[in-house]
Amino acid sequence: ERKGIGRLRRLPSRLLSGEDIELLANVEIPNELPLLHRNGATGIGLLRTEFLFDESAPLPDEDGQYAVYARIVTEMAGMNTTIRVLDWGGEKGLARLRQLGIDDHQEEENPALGVRGLRLLLRHPEILETQLCALLRASLDGPVRILLPMVSSVNEVIATRQIFERCARRLRRRGVRLPAELPPLGVMIETPAAALTAGALVMQADFLALGTNDLTMYTLAVDRAASMGSALYTTLHPAVLRLLRFSVDEGLRARRSVCVCGEIAADPHAVPLLIGMGLRSFSMSAASLPQVKRMVRSLTIEACDDLYRRAILTEDPVQLHEMVSQFAA
Ligand code: PEP
Ligand code: MG
Repeated sequence: ERKGIGRLRRLPSRLLSGEDIELLANVEIPNELPLLHRNGATGIGLLRTEFLFDESAPLPDEDGQYAVYARIVTEMAGMNTTIRVLDWGGEKGLARLRQLGIDDHQEEENPALGVRGLRLLLRHPEILETQLCALLRASLDGPVRILLPMVSSVNEVIATRQIFERCARRLRRRGVRLPAELPPLGVMIETPAAALTAGALVMQADFLALGTNDLTMYTLAVDRAASMGSALYTTLHPAVLRLLRFSVDEGLRARRSVCVCGEIAADPHAVPLLIGMGLRSFSMSAASLPQVKRMVRSLTIEACDDLYRRAILTEDPVQLHEMVSQFAA
């Protein structure tokens, strides 16, 4: 089995019909990088920064954060490294928020529906600025892409881009030689609002990342933490598929790259359907890469397109699941 994986790593992630499929890794801590390389990822599609800094110590300042990002970017040796700004709020980073005296979320009865992700950062721009400055500096060490979590309106992206450009100006004044073209700024599609306004978002964003974990939760009104693995929580639901299709169409029409970085990207049964939808980039936990690559290498684009054309007409989630597993078998 191990030998099989070693051989698989060197084989291209390519359909039988010749199309290349990009396989990237989701990363939370640097310890995951050796497995990422062993399993043949060609970049990081999502680095979640919430878990990167020890919560018992103060949040590192710009220099401290830069050191951590630079080490990861350097270790990626020229491969794309997509780093997401802090997605605190909801269930994440509560100890840190307490430590920083941030209490926007404290009165919330439904934290998943509250001040979370980019919403929280825009209310505390000094935290966002520190992180963006550190990320801009790390972009001198290798190709960095910056990703924004929990976007629900285009204004949030416009406001963030202004802050981003202000950070770049400030760094240049300090003598940091940034390239003329700043690193790409991407938007996570993980709320129905973002999916339905993807056309406006892509005009402000350089790339899209489909966060199917949250998108499924918010679309189906089912808590992901409580219900993952239950029949209620499924990304293979006609409503979720339509939101994904809409986002992918808008992204590709604007010639932006679109990557799936939710759990669905690690599901070999779902991948043919997503390829049929037009997706060519998948980011998943490093451990899941071999199973997805094996699936990719067994497919033709014609078969994926055909599955997708049938699946997108289905209104019944049970039927959709059957269709997808029958295809995989
Ligand atoms: C998602 O919501 O699909 C996602 C990738 O982000 P996270 O799992 O970190 O919320
Ligand atoms: Mg999410």
